[in-house]
Amino acid sequence: MPGELDDIIALVDCPKCGTELRVTYKQIRLHQAAGCSCGALIRLEDDTRIGEVQALIDEANPMGGEND
Ligand SMILES: [Zn+2]
Repeated sequence: MPGELDDIIALVDCPKCGTELRVTYKQIRLHQAAGCSCGALIRLEDDTRIGEVQALIDEANPMGGEND
C-alpha cells in the first residue's frame, strides 16, 4: 500500500517567517517544495527533516518493497 506513506507528515519551519508547516510526504514526493502563506517557497529536498521521513518509510518498508 504505497499510498499509506503519503499520509506521513513532516514539519518544516519556514526560513522566512518561522511558521511551522505541515507537509505530507505526498507533497514532498510530487513537488519537493512547500509554499508558505507568507509567500516563501521552501525546498523540501534540502531540508534535513526529510531524512526523518525517509527513515519512517524505510521502517515501514524495510526490504524496499516486493512488487507483486
Ligand atoms: Zn513563511
